[in-house]
Amino acid sequence: MTGEDTAPMTSDKQRLIVQGMEVAVGERATGYLTIGGGEPVLKAPLVLLNGVRSGPRLALLGGVHGAEYCSIEAARRLAMETDPAALSGQIVAVPIVNMPAFEGRSAFVSPLDGKNLNRTFPGRPDGTPSERLAWTVFKDVIEPADVLIDLHGGDLFESLSPYAIYSTEGTSEVNDRSRKLAAALGLPVVAPGGTSGSAYETAARAGKTAVIAEAGDMGRLEPRWVDALVSGVRNGMRLLGMLAGTTSRSMDQQWARRAHRVQSPAAGLWYRRVDAGQRVTTGQEIGTFCDHFGRPLHTITAPADGMILWIASSLYLSKGAALMNVVELAPPPQGSGIRSSEV
Ligand SMILES: [Zn+2]
Repeated sequence: MTGEDTAPMTSDKQRLIVQGMEVAVGERATGYLTIGGGEPVLKAPLVLLNGVRSGPRLALLGGVHGAEYCSIEAARRLAMETDPAALSGQIVAVPIVNMPAFEGRSAFVSPLDGKNLNRTFPGRPDGTPSERLAWTVFKDVIEPADVLIDLHGGDLFESLSPYAIYSTEGTSEVNDRSRKLAAALGLPVVAPGGTSGSAYETAARAGKTAVIAEAGDMGRLEPRWVDALVSGVRNGMRLLGMLAGTTSRSMDQQWARRAHRVQSPAAGLWYRRVDAGQRVTTGQEIGTFCDHFGRPLHTITAPADGMILWIASSLYLSKGAALMNVVELAPPPQGSGIRSSEV
């Protein structure tokens, strides 16, 4: 999408209908997305914004993981505080996608089927509750959109430093647009990514500009991280030509050139010595696994010089659980500059 196509809308593009819910030009509507295809029938809050000028359709998701509260609050605020009369294009927002996980206060997985929704896309129309949810969100929200911004953060048991991910699973043109949008979100680190079954990878494969923004952690509703996500998405919307104004550039943003994901080597008590955002050097002691009596079993060290992007914060970890992600950082690559005419 270009940022130049902002003529007043006169065509079919001005209609915005999702599951029979229609919103007039210049208006906002609220309702619920219905996820049928089996029992239980699920619902998720849905907000439609129909701008007064033409522009891209943005699918905005929060709460794919139901306890990542800063992302949920940011998606809700963006949906309810953005003025449709100042909008070019359309927003289809689902601020709490995974209501079973949200209401169940469940980390990572749905309490209904034990599945991680962000490993379940595009889902199935007649599958488990998470598969049906993924299918409905993909067919009714993501597929008709031009751009996906999926808001996340550290879950209940994760210490996390804010970052944005762009998909590398689309065409080179789609990946380039996604990379520029991820940079425009203004978070301190930008990382390439491709996670099988995630909303953003599935969207990128379907030709959508697709990014994740991550901020906040450990079940806390922190205003500064909500604000960071809200202002970051607004900056991204300026890049997309959806909001007026110039896209600002974060001057001290760094790029992840290599990620080292470490898994738990054993089940046991996990005593960490570092937080997310901390710089570490190769071989530095990160923490210790102990048995149920506190006797040391394994020492975990940093696999590279870099920054802890996220690290498990729970006292218990099962064998093979996600323990931490250390990223090697580099300055922004050449050509990562963002100009609205390029997106
Ligand atoms: Zn998440």
